[in-house]
Amino acid sequence: MSVLAVVVAPQGRSPSGWAELMGAASTVARLTGEPVEALVAGADGPSLEALARDLWRRGADRVWRLASDGLTEPDPDRYVAALAWAAGRLEPTTLLINGDPLGAQLGPRLAMRIGAASVTEVVDVRPGEQGRPGWVRPMYGGKAMAVVGSRQARTVVNVRPRAFAAPAARSGEPPADALVSLELDAGALPAPRLRVLERRTAASDGVRLEDARIIVSGGRGMGGPEGFQVLQQLAEVLGGAVGASRAAVDAGWVPGHLQIGQTGKMVAPDLYLAVGISGASQHLAGISGARHVVAINKDPEAPIFRAAEIGLAEDWRKVLPSLIERLAQA
Ligand code: FAD
Repeated sequence: MSVLAVVVAPQGRSPSGWAELMGAASTVARLTGEPVEALVAGADGPSLEALARDLWRRGADRVWRLASDGLTEPDPDRYVAALAWAAGRLEPTTLLINGDPLGAQLGPRLAMRIGAASVTEVVDVRPGEQGRPGWVRPMYGGKAMAVVGSRQARTVVNVRPRAFAAPAARSGEPPADALVSLELDAGALPAPRLRVLERRTAASDGVRLEDARIIVSGGRGMGGPEGFQVLQQLAEVLGGAVGASRAAVDAGWVPGHLQIGQTGKMVAPDLYLAVGISGASQHLAGISGARHVVAINKDPEAPIFRAAEIGLAEDWRKVLPSLIERLAQA
């Protein structure tokens, strides 16, 4: 009986959002009174070991380390099999997995495999029925929040990346019995059906959208790619990342991986600055995890102002150059 934060690390790389996932696990454990454990699964190597220690520092009472050469690639079939095997050994009541592209595939499939309930896109948790957690998730493209309960003995929960605050890190080294290696049964992994032919890394300057604490995002109102150069300058002085609406992406002003929204990326920055974006529901669906939203739009009736804490009804050309100058001097 435990709350288990599941972190998958193919290619030995630490995935983003693992510390915030520990925040989610601690919050659930405070509600249920269960211990917090973590399972880190991935390719064997020093970074997996380091990640296991970091998970302990962020509050895991015990960290299970599942290392295998068979988990080098982000192969969902193999990860589901490995995690199902581990879940059978550890018997947690709740398994929390980040809802990043790989985790979002693993969560429901793992739930199916181990006969658990699956809840996705969770952004908060509150006391539910019969002492069980109530999982808070957006619905209708973020227009409403639902509280979902599970009657199953076990629940697999996909947490929206960075929806929870990371717990403060404790210092020191974990005691010997806090880090435990699981020896994966050789027959647990199926033969790979996925073959990696080529690897391409998306060209990105600076901070990744998914990790950014500050995002400055532009829409059709930027008027063209030149407008995005101004946003880039603003992002640089703020130490943030540039995002975009689908209209700006469709116009070919910025690459598709910058699109935020229902069919783009879900982001959860501390500050989201929307410039020349009307605030269509499909765009807002991607920013419901943002802590503070600020909007600049020359139309005072634009729907984005209903989602924003601070709004400036003005042409961005009159605002951004002096804002960048001021911030650069600060
Ligand atoms: P517009 O709606 O045209 O708004 C431009 C805004 O800029 C206006 O409000 C205008 O007042 C303002 N403006 C103009 N000039 C200036 C200026 N000089 N200074 C300040 N303000 C100015 N959209 C997404 O963003 N992400 C998605 O993932 C997404 N998925 C979708 C999925 C589906 C199935 C569908 C049907 C649509 C989806 N859309 C998505 C599209 C969405 O419905 C909107 O069309 C889109 O978000 C509009 O982008 P926009 O706000 O940049 O453009």
